[in-house]
Amino acid sequence: MKKILILEDEVNIRSFVVINLKRAGYEVVEAGTGQEALDKFQEQKDIDMAILDIMLPDIDGFEVCRRLRAANKQLGIIMLTARTQEMDKVTGLMTGADDYVTKPFSPAELTARVDALFRRIGKDVACNGELLSQGPFTLNTRNHTLDKYGERIRLTQVEYSIMKLFMANPGRALSREDIRSEVWGKDYDGELKIVDVNIRRLRIKIEDDSTNPAYITTIWGFGYKWGA
Ligand code: CA
Repeated sequence: MKKILILEDEVNIRSFVVINLKRAGYEVVEAGTGQEALDKFQEQKDIDMAILDIMLPDIDGFEVCRRLRAANKQLGIIMLTARTQEMDKVTGLMTGADDYVTKPFSPAELTARVDALFRRIGKDVACNGELLSQGPFTLNTRNHTLDKYGERIRLTQVEYSIMKLFMANPGRALSREDIRSEVWGKDYDGELKIVDVNIRRLRIKIEDDSTNPAYITTIWGFGYKWGA
């Protein structure tokens, strides 16, 4: 059974999430503080996904996200953000989250996002081993790794999926909608901005100069193009 860690200090919201995830067939581990979440993650090596609130009494959710991501690149991470805090979404994604859900959310909405993220992770895992080499980059679809001039670049699952899409379509202009639907799934109804934020993060990792990108070029008003 897939195991999800839920970090939320408000007991009412936490139990509501727990009940609904259990109903959807997931095993759930609960934490009410950032430290508790980090401890439980350490103890239970088989946690597949983490849902993290941001405003907490001790360590904030971004820091928890950063530490979980540093410990596990394959983990799925969803942030719970407040509607009034627009920057939360961007900050969350920059610290390594895969997705965010805005409060207040319905049980169906959260479960749909969790299911979609599991499908994305699962789809990548099922891919057969193959090497894609372009310019200085080598993508290994068996190990999910990316090397640049033989040096490993550490990617999140989402960043890996974007790189795979780019390297499978060299020189082709991809719209932001195309990227969203390929990487996040056709049923994903989040904002297009999630694409831009992930590209920004990816550029920092793969470009020689992320302010003057040479590999992932922007096509204004449309999307992005890969050319290595
Ligand atoms: Ca909170």
